[in-house]
Amino acid sequence: MKYRRLGKSGLQVSELSFGAWVTFAQQITEKTAEKLMTIAYDAGVNFFDNAEAYANGRAEIVMGRILKRQGWARDTFLVSSKVFWGGDLPNQEGLSRKHVIEACHAALRRLRVDYLDLYFCHRPDANTPIEETVRAMSDLVAQGKVLYWGTSEWSALAITAAHRIAWELRLVPPTMEQPQYNMFHRERVEKELYPLYETVGLGTTIWSPLASGLLTGKYNDGDPGGTRISLKNYEWLREQFETAEARKRLAKVKKLAKVADDLGTTLPQLGLAWCLKNPHVSSVLTGASKPKQVKENMKAGDLVEKLTDEVMARIDAILGNA
Ligand code: NDP
Repeated sequence: MKYRRLGKSGLQVSELSFGAWVTFAQQITEKTAEKLMTIAYDAGVNFFDNAEAYANGRAEIVMGRILKRQGWARDTFLVSSKVFWGGDLPNQEGLSRKHVIEACHAALRRLRVDYLDLYFCHRPDANTPIEETVRAMSDLVAQGKVLYWGTSEWSALAITAAHRIAWELRLVPPTMEQPQYNMFHRERVEKELYPLYETVGLGTTIWSPLASGLLTGKYNDGDPGGTRISLKNYEWLREQFETAEARKRLAKVKKLAKVADDLGTTLPQLGLAWCLKNPHVSSVLTGASKPKQVKENMKAGDLVEKLTDEVMARIDAILGNA
């Protein structure tokens, strides 16, 4: 495993990390979750990602119990939470000072840790002034409850505003953004956020690197069954996989399979290594429902050096979205 700095911060984060969305407390048992986390940790993963919204907090409870049982030294792992969707009542959602602080306390309890290494604003909140959120996050850092705070799916403009406010008011600015990034979803990371890597030293922990499984090739011949699109509450994802756009994407995945073959690798490894090839990605957040998936994914780092300019150009020609 290689480690990268989280933006301009001094924090070292494993280039492949592991998240709990969809799987923990929903698709898989706690025993499987523990197996997956252990395989990842043993492979050098030091960052485990979570959110108050994942399985309505139950994903954090499961992760907290696993961290406790495994007893890993606190300086060997990073754990995150994200605040935004905490419940249906008015102050259980969004980025008000009240919800940001209360959600942090609740995540600390569920994850059974004294501090969150990373704490993200899961989405922008149009109903809260950015200054209120920056101040709440900055206070949590000052209190030692959060080490680094960041955003997820915030526009470059909003991240810049947060930095300006932090600068003017001598508060702690956001260190990282968590955007979606994969072969089919490139524009925000490669274009919109691009200036911020230089100007504010933004780090990125990117999500859905395999486009929820579309890039693994498992959907090339239709629904294989037993995947996340068969889950209750994920009908929206199944519908996304059945659109005309998805069919175009699957045709591209079939061509990418040939590239993977020629490199002597698999589609999941190619998809992850392609994300790792981007130096502005601090960590690629992987997800998995089975041990064999984690084992396969953890080898993706070895492939990066085989992604020469020629291979990248071949991939770009297939994707048509460079
Ligand atoms: P991916 O796009 O990589 O999808 C992961 C899923 O793909 C797995 O659960 C599995 O699904 C399938 N898969 C993974 N590896 C393999 C393999 N080797 N072979 C076959 N199938 C494989 O990532 P996620 O969408 O899971 O996102 C990763 C993490 O990013 C999340 O856990 C979360 O921490 C974070 N995230 C953050 C968001 C945000 O808004 N900030 C939004 C979404 C995610 P299956 O069970 O179907 O086989």
